[in-house]
Amino acid sequence: MYTCLRDYFPAMNGTSLKKHLAKLNPGGLRYFDSLGSTNDEALAWAADGAKDFSLVVADEQTQGRGRLDRKWSTPQGSAIAMSLILRPSAPLRPHLSRTVGLAALSISDACLGLGLSPRIKWPNDILLGGRKVAGILVETVWSGDEADSLVIGMGINVGRSSVPPAESLRFPATSLEDELGRALSREEIIFLVLEAIQKRGREIGAERFIRSWEERLAFRGETVQVGAENGEPVCGVLEGLDLDGGLRLRDEHDKTVSVHIGDVSLRPSA
Ligand code: ATP
Repeated sequence: MYTCLRDYFPAMNGTSLKKHLAKLNPGGLRYFDSLGSTNDEALAWAADGAKDFSLVVADEQTQGRGRLDRKWSTPQGSAIAMSLILRPSAPLRPHLSRTVGLAALSISDACLGLGLSPRIKWPNDILLGGRKVAGILVETVWSGDEADSLVIGMGINVGRSSVPPAESLRFPATSLEDELGRALSREEIIFLVLEAIQKRGREIGAERFIRSWEERLAFRGETVQVGAENGEPVCGVLEGLDLDGGLRLRDEHDKTVSVHIGDVSLRPSA
């Protein structure tokens, strides 16, 4: 029988994913062929007592969220939509604002391991060749004013068909398949990202964690515009990161300005 290799893309299922991830000893795994939002499922599971390092994965996500309730697209059969639950230990509590960096560094480590050259568009996107290949959304379950658990939502475009049409996007997008010219196993990519999270997580409190994150930033040394949804955009040369993960810019008056994770979008300055 004739098979069109161009259309072949490795399938994913809960049983083989569980086998793939066994070495990482996840607290639990919930796999769905289709789900509204992996973050919503993980938030509910966390509130219901999920163990540390429990994972929700969906082949298709119908209500995927980015920041500010923007939509994140995860069509069936070609992308990764996953949410990891972390229960922060006492030594990690002072560094919770670094969690988005933990995910960004780990996804970029996985890309590096595949021979690609990732950059982090602060705070929450991974770029390949200046195009978005992955996005991150960190949400918190609070117990009073203590963070009981963190949910790290990650959307990664693996297959070519996971890239949304250009006219629907605020920033250009790509996929791992587009960049590498070959199809990849999503289970393998999930393994690589989670393995990196475990490794990077051990150094999250150290200053070298911030320096590694900083070295991977996109547009470093270039003039960028950081626009807030409600407020004046800040323009300046992107210098690096503060210890809390805030972005440090040098403005036109040679003054250092720090921007914190909120409703900001970073763009190269026109
Ligand atoms: P921006 O990247 O424009 O600064 P943002 O970082 O706030 O915005 P995210 O929260 O990362 O955005 O994600 C939502 C945006 O990402 C959407 O508005 C859409 O433009 C874009 N998007 C949605 N799905 C995908 C996808 N699969 N691949 C790449 N981009 C996507």
